[in-house]
Amino acid sequence: MVKAEGVHKSFGPTHVLKGVDLEVAPREVFCVVGPSGSGKSTFLRCINHLEKINAGRLYVDGHLVGYRQHGNKLHELKDKEVAAQRRDIGMVFQRFNLFPHMTALENVMEAPVQVKRESKATARERAMRLLDRVGLADKAGGYPTQLSGGQQQRVAIARALAMEPKLMLFDEPTSALDPELVGEVLDVMRDLAESGMTMLVVTHEMGFAREVGDALVFMDDGAVVESGHPRDVLTNPQHQRTKTFLSKVL
Ligand code: ATP
Ligand code: MG
Repeated sequence: MVKAEGVHKSFGPTHVLKGVDLEVAPREVFCVVGPSGSGKSTFLRCINHLEKINAGRLYVDGHLVGYRQHGNKLHELKDKEVAAQRRDIGMVFQRFNLFPHMTALENVMEAPVQVKRESKATARERAMRLLDRVGLADKAGGYPTQLSGGQQQRVAIARALAMEPKLMLFDEPTSALDPELVGEVLDVMRDLAESGMTMLVVTHEMGFAREVGDALVFMDDGAVVESGHPRDVLTNPQHQRTKTFLSKVL
């Protein structure tokens, strides 16, 4: 579902991604862990073409992200084509970025109506189903400020799912939450994993990674240092850098 081959990304003189290689299989929960500044968020943003890579190849569902290949040359896709690619990818960030002037229901309905030109009735019906799925049917009329952080993050997940994505990207979705609210968001993510969604999850929640993850990579200084089954990497890390990192977070 996602394939990265030698992905490099620099911001001016700062070389952030230094040859990322990884492959996420369909229906897999793929966890990414690593220290602050190692390039985890940058990598997720590249998958959405929110950042353009400088070298390497990045594929989602077999399609080159952001480019079309002619012989050996790459041509950047038009904005419309990039938007079409992004439609298949849901993203949930650390900070719940709901539209503040819209209710939970309106937030979840927004993209299908605006982007897919879906009828409001159809969008509303799906939005209600999704809010029910994340346990928030009773909060449909609530505004973001009236919801807890955990509830807002569950609305954000429902909103991403409303576009019926093939792939969900999560960037530390629980790290801005009070500890007592983390569990409710992880439970929703666990349900989503069980439903067969392909998920790429940047997280510091090692318990979640161990219990729900199918694969895990440890990223450091812009590259994958170690990868494997979460249980193996977390309990028996092979590299010193992985050991040092895990000793700090576990
Ligand atoms: P954290 O765990 O703190 O979220 P991260 O692994 O997600 O860290 P990134 O946010 O990807 O790390 O950042 C990696 C490096 O890239 C950092 O040194 C950061 O300063 C730099 N960086 C990220 N975005 C930009 C940008 N738009 N312009 C310049 N530098 C950037
Ligand atoms: Mg980050």
